[in-house]
Amino acid sequence: MEIIQNVDSLRNRVEFLRKERKYIGLVPTMGYFHDGHLNLMRLSVSECDVTVVSNYVNPAQFDRRDDLESYPINFERDKALAEEIGVDIMFYPQTLYQSDHKTWVTVEKLTDVLCGRSRPGHFKGVATVVCKLFNIVNPHVAYFGQKDAQQAAVIEQMIKDLNFDIRLVLSPIIREHDGLAMSSRNVQLTPEHRKKAPVFYEQLQLIDKKLLPDLSNKEMLIEQAKKTLENIPGVRVDYIEVLSWPHLEIPDKTSHRLLIAGAVFFGNVRLIDNIIKEL
Ligand code: AMP
Repeated sequence: MEIIQNVDSLRNRVEFLRKERKYIGLVPTMGYFHDGHLNLMRLSVSECDVTVVSNYVNPAQFDRRDDLESYPINFERDKALAEEIGVDIMFYPQTLYQSDHKTWVTVEKLTDVLCGRSRPGHFKGVATVVCKLFNIVNPHVAYFGQKDAQQAAVIEQMIKDLNFDIRLVLSPIIREHDGLAMSSRNVQLTPEHRKKAPVFYEQLQLIDKKLLPDLSNKEMLIEQAKKTLENIPGVRVDYIEVLSWPHLEIPDKTSHRLLIAGAVFFGNVRLIDNIIKEL
């Protein structure tokens, strides 16, 4: 596996591969790999001639300094894991922003809800870094996880609006044995909160199971889920919502798919999870 740290080197390498008619897959990540990341890489390796994984903790998408500073990093472990899977190139830049950076990508409406509402500027940082990666790597296909469902909806919109000739593949959420969605942040949970964290997904599943076809009990189910979660000491619900998928609007009878999504603080650790429900 090649480790490339420099934007121009990566651009040259990929241009050469394109001329060789290689089909190129990109997996954008912030590192500290777990099976959720590795699953995206395996998918890319199986479908593409060349897999590029970016490993970059993007400061622009953090709305809290303490969150950025405590974000886990282990490059040597990441390198070994990606290599084992057959990743061809790992892009590991020191920074992707010059000190005079002034251009930002804003996707409207889709970013007004859910994580966009509680993390101001987050999706501006996400859309900008993904736009940069798309321009640098120029992949045929980009792999994203459903774990960050709103992120995928935002990027799909950006691909359409900015005429990127890139196919987005959305891959299912990979979970721990007890149902907790895998996340680089899970290692930051206290042992008590780690034990209780699966209640989050259980509550989303309960909403999924009990939601009536006319959605008339939606608010009641959301309130019950919030109450159950906030009964756990140190737990605060940021949001639990049911929106149409992928438009992220208030659902109605015409909605074919729903996103049951939540963000919950276990202490200082903010976890997200969701279920996409077909109607
Ligand atoms: P991150 O490093 O957290 O920015 O995630 C990089 C990519 O991996 C994103 O597309 C995430 O949605 C995806 N991802 C993270 N956790 C999971 C998971 N548990 N299951 C599936 N995909 C995931």
